[in-house]
Amino acid sequence: MNAFDDRVALVTGAGSGIGRAMAVAFAKAGARVVAADVDRARAEETAAVVGEAALAVTADVGDQASVAALTEAAIGAYGRIDVLCNNAGILDTMALPAEIAPEVWDRVIRVNLTGAFLVTHAVLPHLLRQGRGAIVNTASEAGIRGGAAGAAYTASKHGLIGLTRSVAWAYAKDGIRCNAILPGPTATNIADGATFDPAGAARLSPVLALGELMAQPEQMADAALYLASDAASFVNGAIVPVDGGWSAG
Ligand code: NAD
Repeated sequence: MNAFDDRVALVTGAGSGIGRAMAVAFAKAGARVVAADVDRARAEETAAVVGEAALAVTADVGDQASVAALTEAAIGAYGRIDVLCNNAGILDTMALPAEIAPEVWDRVIRVNLTGAFLVTHAVLPHLLRQGRGAIVNTASEAGIRGGAAGAAYTASKHGLIGLTRSVAWAYAKDGIRCNAILPGPTATNIADGATFDPAGAARLSPVLALGELMAQPEQMADAALYLASDAASFVNGAIVPVDGGWSAG
């Protein structure tokens, strides 16, 4: 018997990095996995890596119609959702508040914060109907400090922590738990093709004070797996740094 036998995990941003590692980890633990990503090829690649326990769905978490179609696809295929990992996210340009372009602000808030809200909003009725469910949000160290990223990313991840606590509190008596992980720097594709504002990048300190310590995506997936599992049955509203100790310094 595996911890997630008979359970269904929906992971957003599952086409790469931390989301792909989550999809693989939940499948290994017995779950059927809905691997959602805005990039179709990446979603399909993850589903191919996972094998027959995975369903690839192309979905933009920032778009309400796309999220509705994602939830329908998951319920249509598997009939239930037990675990939701709100993991899709994008970086900002590391711009400070005075310099950030309003379009960058809108886009980052739309994907990182509104996206998590829209998917949570669409999935909650199913969790409530089942009387059970676990949500794990991928926030960031930038969700608890001001100097780890630009203004938009920082605000989006602080907001995601607020959403985590709101959901945890609201549904504690309904069998639904909601927690967040705060990854430290992790080897993924998130910075591919990114351009950074030089003034912001010079003033911010996104890199660990612990030398070149860099996490692997699987280390984030392990933490998410624990928070979504029955081993964490009384852990609700927790904001869990998975950063090798960065936040302790
Ligand atoms: P990644 O770029 O490797 O993977 C993110 C995936 O999300 C990509 O496949 C991308 O196509 C997808 N995505 C982007 N926008 C989307 C949208 N609108 N709808 C659906 N999917 C979308 O990056 P990652 O590092 O694995 O990032 C995963 C999460 O971890 C993000 O929320 C990120 O903010 C967070 N995080 C990462 C780090 C790090 O150092 N890598 C640190 C802290 C937090």
